[in-house]
Amino acid sequence: MNLQNNKELVFQSVAQAAEQAQRLKDSVNIIAVTKYVDCETTQELVRTGIQHIGENRVDKFLDKYHALKDENLTWHLIGSLQRRKVKDVINYVDYFHALDSVKLAKEIDKRAEHVIKCFLQVNISKEESKHGFLIEELEVVLPELEKLENVQIVGLMTMAPFEASHEELNQIFEKAHQLQKELKKKQLNNMPFSELSMGMSRDYPEAIAHGSTYVRIGTAFFK
Ligand SMILES: *Cc1c(COP(=O)(O)O)cnc(C)c1O
Repeated sequence: MNLQNNKELVFQSVAQAAEQAQRLKDSVNIIAVTKYVDCETTQELVRTGIQHIGENRVDKFLDKYHALKDENLTWHLIGSLQRRKVKDVINYVDYFHALDSVKLAKEIDKRAEHVIKCFLQVNISKEESKHGFLIEELEVVLPELEKLENVQIVGLMTMAPFEASHEELNQIFEKAHQLQKELKKKQLNNMPFSELSMGMSRDYPEAIAHGSTYVRIGTAFFK
């Protein structure tokens, strides 16, 4: 595992995907998902020039956060969060990517000591196994979320099915992109909807082609 080399390959290939989509490379933020490695390896990766760290589980998020909190990093909690764990973690989180219920949003609002930037997770492909709001639900959900002072909805997050083809990925990511643009136009209170969190190691080129501003990449850094 050559972290410096892997980091350069990931950054180059993200820049290339951005260029192909006629976007500035700086419009795509790269989150290094460190769930596969320990704190030392994460520290080493940070030294190669990483700004954004992502973890999908609360316990591992807290381990990494406490080991690296002096590094001036941006911290992303990217996986589903149980309501009873909100109070343990939410005040260390810069961006929470998996907001998937109004009840969870209310708990975050109650426990947060500052405004938490959240992505609404949407289930575009309607896979039963996936978390996230269905598009049809948003009409009733958004007015509820608009009332919460400490929950800012910065954008949408979605995940494509593992086995999706190139065409299916393009369809899913484009649908998310269109929805994000529609919601942004509404100019809802505390909901800029300016960001899109989509794309993992296997599908980030397609996600960037369809407007992703945060890619969540694990495997490609640690192979
Ligand atoms: C693990 C994980 C990723 C990164 O996946 P890779 O395929 O390893 O790049 C991205 N998003 C979420 C929510 C994850 O749990």
